[in-house]
Amino acid sequence: MIYRRKPCDSDLVEATQWFKHGDYPGDDYYDEDYVPEEGDTLCCVCRLPMKFHGGIEVWGACSECVCPSNWIVQLSDGYVAVMNDKEFHEMYEEA
Ligand SMILES: [Zn+2]
Repeated sequence: MIYRRKPCDSDLVEATQWFKHGDYPGDDYYDEDYVPEEGDTLCCVCRLPMKFHGGIEVWGACSECVCPSNWIVQLSDGYVAVMNDKEFHEMYEEA
């Protein structure tokens, strides 16, 4: 989907709300060597098990942790931003 940065910014961005692996091209498990198991570590941000999280490449090489329902925003300079649902809707509206 295409979204516009508020208020009335002419720059349009491509944004994807991420819920599970496969929702975003190139997403990966946050920890590549991670094997989901009982008693999984909980995310300190959303409190969901880490097995439900993704890893997205941002700033070229770093992997950023993506919580389910986070938004992945393609910025015009080629970088990628990850933000939560509240932050996203404060900054962007559907174009
Ligand atoms: Zn999380």
